[in-house]
Amino acid sequence: MHDLAGAWRRTAQGAGLLAPDGSSRPTIFAEMSALAARTGAINLGQGFPDEDGPAVVLDAARDAIAHGVNQYPPGRGILDLRVAITEHQKRFYGLTLDPERDVLVTAGATEALSATLLALIAGPEDEVVVFEPFYDSYAACVALAGARLVTVPLRRPDFQPDLDDLRRAVTDRTRLILVNDPHNPTGAVFSAEVRSEVVRLAERHDAVIVTDEVYEHLVFRDAHVPLSTLPGAWERTLTISSAGKTFSTTGWKIGWVSGPAFLIDAVLAVKQFLTYVNGAPFQPAIATGLRLPDAFFRGVADELRVKRDLLGAGLRAAGFEVSVPQGSYFTVAAIPTDEGTDAADFCRSLPERAGVVAIPLTAFVTPERRAEYSRLVRFAACKRIDVLEDAASRLAVLA
Ligand code: PMP
Ligand code: GLN
Repeated sequence: MHDLAGAWRRTAQGAGLLAPDGSSRPTIFAEMSALAARTGAINLGQGFPDEDGPAVVLDAARDAIAHGVNQYPPGRGILDLRVAITEHQKRFYGLTLDPERDVLVTAGATEALSATLLALIAGPEDEVVVFEPFYDSYAACVALAGARLVTVPLRRPDFQPDLDDLRRAVTDRTRLILVNDPHNPTGAVFSAEVRSEVVRLAERHDAVIVTDEVYEHLVFRDAHVPLSTLPGAWERTLTISSAGKTFSTTGWKIGWVSGPAFLIDAVLAVKQFLTYVNGAPFQPAIATGLRLPDAFFRGVADELRVKRDLLGAGLRAAGFEVSVPQGSYFTVAAIPTDEGTDAADFCRSLPERAGVVAIPLTAFVTPERRAEYSRLVRFAACKRIDVLEDAASRLAVLA
């Protein structure tokens, strides 16, 4: 008998799926949400809203179920949703896509990312460049796809990458540059210089750009700029997004990837064997959401900006040093100096001490860089105003 358990353990350990003692472990988000449930603490850890999104979107899903949209949808997704995605890309970014060829609906952005990485990574020599800290599935999927992760650090206070670091990271071995903008966990929105340098380097080294734009509508200052709109970028860029954040439907898992047909076909070839298809009745509902007027999309950002400011003020009053995010659900804060330097320990004791759950930034970094991020904590602002006010008054015990 082959040592199947041993082989799995080696793969899983390499992908960071196991705890140091070899046991399997839940993601940091599941762990922290369970901690919040167990202690009754306010959950500012996992990024999900605690209010429903637009009623018309929810009603459209109920209607779809009532009207028989309950069987397998087409492999690329229901055409009306693909059309709505192309209309959205045209309205907000001026991009012209073919709904038949340039768009693929996926089980959330998570599946779009994993199918893309599995499709485009050719072998162990391939490198995938990401900014660090990074969303947890990136490193796991790069490892599962058998490639090497190369990271470019983002540092406080603004979490913009150093362009020389970026230039050193991208080489002829780079197969993909994976850019999450607006960025989880730091809340950074990358500058125009960073955006154009990514495209220049991708062209120079013939790499594909993959963007994760799930927070595209959650920006607080400037309008979002997809990398695929930059000169020369379209033909080498896959753009990933999701309905979860924009419409407060994180549990529906409707995402999509758009880009040139030859790249979409490669992702589809993998996606069809991961989930085949997903979420039939939710697809027309998200089409309804994507067609909501501009005021809805502005409203989502305006509301979150108020919450960001409330959370930031509460954290500052409690003694944290706070970075001001330009987008996303998240705010990063350095723990007060008299709390030591281990934010993971700090987060473990926070529910008991203050009744609040948050996530240490070390959950989003490679082991080599843990020390650099060890004082930093991520707080989610996507909660009701009264919940954020309650959290702020609870955190005041630390001051
Ligand atoms: N990318 C980023 C940066 C995220 O924060 C998340 C989760 N919210 C995802 C991808 C996953 O999105 P989905 O829930 O649509 O799979
Ligand atoms: N994207 C959410 C976050 O960063 C959670 C997603 C998840 O639980 N996998 O908090």
